[in-house]
Parts: sequence; C-alpha cells; structure tokens
Amino acid sequence: MNIRTLTFKGGTHPPDSKKATESLPIERANEPKVVVIPMQQHIGAPCEPIVQIGDEVKVGQKIGEAKGFVSVPVHSSVSGKVTAVEPRLYSGGMAVPCIVIESDMQNIVSDQVVPKGDISVLSAEDIKNIIKEAGIVGMGGATFPTHVKLAPPPDKKVDTVILNGAECEPYLTSDHRLMLEYPENVVFGLQALMKALGVKKGYIGIETNKPDAIEKVFEAAKDVADIEVVALKTKYPQGAEKQLIYACTGREVPSGGLPADAGVVVNNVGTAAAVAKAIKTGMPLIERIVTVTGAGVNSPKNLLVKIGTSFRDIIEQCGGLKGKVGKVIAGGPMMGITQFSLDIPAIKGTSGILVLSEEEARLPEPSNCIKCGKCVETCPINLMPVNISMYSLANRHDQAEALNAMDCIECGSCSYVCPAKRPLVDSIRVSKREILARRKKAQSK
Ligand code: SF4
Ligand code: SF4
Repeated sequence: MNIRTLTFKGGTHPPDSKKATESLPIERANEPKVVVIPMQQHIGAPCEPIVQIGDEVKVGQKIGEAKGFVSVPVHSSVSGKVTAVEPRLYSGGMAVPCIVIESDMQNIVSDQVVPKGDISVLSAEDIKNIIKEAGIVGMGGATFPTHVKLAPPPDKKVDTVILNGAECEPYLTSDHRLMLEYPENVVFGLQALMKALGVKKGYIGIETNKPDAIEKVFEAAKDVADIEVVALKTKYPQGAEKQLIYACTGREVPSGGLPADAGVVVNNVGTAAAVAKAIKTGMPLIERIVTVTGAGVNSPKNLLVKIGTSFRDIIEQCGGLKGKVGKVIAGGPMMGITQFSLDIPAIKGTSGILVLSEEEARLPEPSNCIKCGKCVETCPINLMPVNISMYSLANRHDQAEALNAMDCIECGSCSYVCPAKRPLVDSIRVSKREILARRKKAQSK
C-alpha cells in the first residue's frame, strides 16, 4: 500500500475520544413509531410540504418540494399516515415547518424508488438530477445541497473532487464505520461525483488515526483510475474544506473565496455513499449513521437512524442517559450545536449525538489575555483571533471585518488552546453575524 501522508499549517490536537464507538459496527436503529421531518434540513430555502394531514405515505416518497435552486426535496423515512403539518423545534435551535408521520411499521416502499441504471450510461446531467431529487446534502454536518456544488459558475475551472474522510471532530466515528463497512459505496459515489463534474482527478483523504479505514478504502479504489487515497495527519481541523484542499493539492483558497476558486469541489464520504445508494437503489436520503456517545449515555453506539427519529428515542436505544447530564450536543464538541430538548428529530446533518456529563460540560471561568500568541499560532486560517475577539467584544465589528473575521471557519481551535479560556470563537461568531447583517442591509438600500 503506497500512500502519501499530508497535512496543513496550524491546527491543534484535542483528545480524539473515539475509543467508545470506533470498533462498534453500525446497527440499524429500532423502527420509530412517529417521525418528525423538518422542511428545513439544509442550507438554502426551506421545502414546501406537498402532503396533508390524513395522507398515507410510503418510504422514499417525496413529501416536501424544493423551493428554488439552493434547496432540496425531503422524503418520508417511514410508511404510515401524516398526523400533523406544523412548526416544531429542530436541532438548529428554532421551530421550523415539519411533517409528522405515524408509522404503520410496515416499511412499504414507494414505487417512485427504482434503480437509476448503470453509471456508464448516465450523463452528467442525469447524475446531478438524481442527486437533487434524492435530497442529498453535505452529510458532514454542513448540509449544503450537493447538486449546487456540482454546478460551479462557468468561470471557475474545477478539475478535482476531494472526499472528506478525515472525521477530525472528536468523539464522532460514523464516517469511520461507513468507510470500513461500505468502502465500495464511497468509491462509487466519488466516481459519480467526478462524472457529474467532468473531472479526472479524485482524492479520498482519511486521517491516520483510522488505519483500518485507509486500508479498506484503498483496496476498494486500487483498480479505479484517477482516484488516490491519501492519509492525513491526525490534527484538528483536518477535515475543514480549505485545510483539506491544501493538504491534498497544495492549493490555497483565497480569502473570501470558495473551493471552486482553487479548482476543487469537496464532499463528505457520507455524501458520496448517499449518492451511490440513490443511483444503485433509487432510495433518496431518508436515513443516516449517527454516533451516539459521551460519558452521559449508557451504551454508546453507531446507529443507522431514520430521518425524523427523536433524539429521545435514539438515546433510549443506547440504554438511556447516565448520571448527571451537563450537555447534549448535535454533532461533535468543537462544531456541534448544544440542544435544549431531546424532543427534536435527527436530520440529514446529524452526524452525532454527544451527551456530556455535568463535569465535562462545566465551562471554565475566562481570565485576562496573557498575550501568549497561542491562538494566532493555532489558527488554520492565519487569523489573529485575539484581536478579532477584542474588537467584537468592544462592538467594533468594522475593525473585526478589516481583520478578515469573515474568513473564520469557526473551528474552535483558538478557544481550545487559549490558556486564559477566552471566549474567542463565540465572540468572533457574533462579529460575523453582525457583519453579515450590515452587508445585507447595505445591499437592500
Ligand atoms: S479564528 Fe476561527 S478559524 Fe481561526 S482558530 Fe479561531 S475559530 Fe478557527
Ligand atoms: S491564546 Fe488566549 S491568552 Fe493567548 S494570546 Fe490568544 S487570547 Fe490571549
């Protein structure tokens, strides 16, 4: 196995905390009695419900229609009856329109679900349409509609697709298990994405803390021309787009730019596997692998969960909560979102449910900056987190903007390494929101 080991500048090394689940095979979660399926599970315009209370639906049936180009449809994950169409809380922290379906526990599959044919006869346009109609979004948590990434502006010359198998976020192992158990789907999905974009070079980047996954994916890809499996040094945030692109190709995405500016499109390995499934079986994105872990859960697991299943049901299947729980996070500890209720549904971007104990979740008291420069040294984007944060806390957002606050990828590395426990990423996030709001206001004048 001849594999290159690559990386990026900066970054940090939080404990990876993956031991509890990395060797646990994916288990299918229990069939949910009720699913709550949000119309907004992706970046972009929410879907419009196309079913009503009382309608019977089947597995894979479209229940929400995309509104606009940056939007994707939503499908039923169960067969059963629609019992409500109403706003419900979801993991984004607000109420969004949802379709509530009571399962008949029969799993009757819609006749809309049919294999899409041999990839060699599908055109690039066919593949893009299949991906859009299957409701596929970035499965690493970003939830950007995949078909939009496959339509870069004509002036951007994309020649490379990179699959992100780094899974650098601590605790999460869903991508690791996917690569071990379904490596052929990851490779097939990459081939489909390359064909959709008409590019000849594909990379699959996997962190060195997953040597078994590197081996499996290498085996699956070894006879496929133009695909290279690369090992990535275990370092946070190795899976961030700009860092991944630099590590694999040596190209830098310009400040304020997109991967396409460096000739690259990046997708998660889970996204590629969803693309493979949509082409091979015709099944849209109705389920995903979720790592359920942390000291606050009795039996950590990697579960294949139907979209719309509640966090409460999922945690129950993992033996329930353990001891005094301090925090429940959708996603990982660095970039995940803290939840205030367990009565929210798993959605397309739910890569993990992390339950921290009260002790683990306790936030340290911040003290004064000691000007050690560690945050600057660590920032993978070469920003000056200490200065941006200072301007943000003083409400001087224009100065934060001048220091390129908008380039911050909110990876949290600066906050993690800060010995004074300054709220760096939180304050930078506030500035980014403020700057965006000001830009929007200026555009609408
Ligand atoms: S400033 Fe932003 S990009 Fe840089 S380390 Fe902090 S959170 Fe990450
Ligand atoms: S890491 Fe913390 S203490 Fe050190 S310079 Fe940055 S903000 Fe100040």
